[in-house]
Amino acid sequence: MVKAKIAVNGYGTIGKRVADAVRAQDDMEVVGISKTKPNYEAAVAHQLGYDIYAPAANLGAFEKAGMPAAGTIEEMVEKADLVVDCTPGGIGEGNKPLYEKAGVKAIWQGGEDHSLAGFSFNAICNYEQAVGRDLVRVVSCNTTALCRAIYPIDKELGVKKARVVLARRATDPNDVKKGPINAIVPDPIKLPSHHGPDVKSVLPQINITSAALKVPTTLMHVHTVNMEVEKDCTVDDVKNIFGSQPRIRFVGLGMSSTAEIIEFARDMKRPRNDMWENCIWPESITVEDKELYFFQAVHQESIVVPENVDAIRAMMELESDGAKSIEKTNKAIGLNKK
Ligand code: NAD
Repeated sequence: MVKAKIAVNGYGTIGKRVADAVRAQDDMEVVGISKTKPNYEAAVAHQLGYDIYAPAANLGAFEKAGMPAAGTIEEMVEKADLVVDCTPGGIGEGNKPLYEKAGVKAIWQGGEDHSLAGFSFNAICNYEQAVGRDLVRVVSCNTTALCRAIYPIDKELGVKKARVVLARRATDPNDVKKGPINAIVPDPIKLPSHHGPDVKSVLPQINITSAALKVPTTLMHVHTVNMEVEKDCTVDDVKNIFGSQPRIRFVGLGMSSTAEIIEFARDMKRPRNDMWENCIWPESITVEDKELYFFQAVHQESIVVPENVDAIRAMMELESDGAKSIEKTNKAIGLNKK
């Protein structure tokens, strides 16, 4: 089988995970990753055998550091069928002319606006609409988690209105520059936060509003979700709906916090303690007068990773059935809910 040639432009928190997840698949391969500087992440990429591409002006620095680059970022893009742009939010937009010039397909992440690609993706919600597309945006960690939870409830019970409060991790574990370290920050103070409206970029029919707070933690986000639904339902109905979802995990067994969920991921020997699934506390699921409530935790560093793999498979027309792609991706990366 000829494998789809994938380049990962920007090898940071998301990019390094996407590269490894693509490598785990049998229908696609990584032709290169890009790094701007020869730092510790580049050294590991080199050890892992990735071809590293860099800005032309920095090629000498890579040579000097003992990890010679395979070429420039432009040359990497030329080698690819599809580029997954994992550069910091706002930077990816500037790469669009590069991708267009090379005639390659491109995926951007949630830090870019919906309008850049004109299509926002979540595998369970709209895989089939992404088949054959040239440009796609994989929505952010919070939006991914909300789409995965709201879509199946809307399908089975009809969502009249969703209200979400997000306690967001302040920053990622490797980030030494950002805070807060001793404050809770309404972010933004003016409501709604962008998360509710962003869900509508994937699920335009959903009536949703959201508020968000930044809290001093790096591990995960936690959402308090409330949905008013059209049909009468029980807690068991909601549990059955979530239980049948391929990327929703129930957490319990003493896991009463994000710290214990991450420890569980470490104990399971997940790569980089990644938890690709929405983590819902089943005891939190409450139903009252056609309104349901629950808590879910979201591992921001990894939840979008399988979604990127599915987006590639749809765009490259390697699989037309979303459920089959999700199953294939999950199996290859080791996402097993047991
Ligand atoms: P990051 O800062 O960890 O990584 C970005 C990488 O891109 C870095 O290695 C940086 O050196 C490199 N880079 C910067 N400018 C570049 C350029 N011009 N060309 C090539 N590489 C360049 O960022 P991240 O957290 O991985 O975020 C990437 C995207 O994913 C953003 O859109 C972000 O909003 C989105 N996202 C992030 C998270 C998260 O929690 N970290 C979750 C979901 C989505």
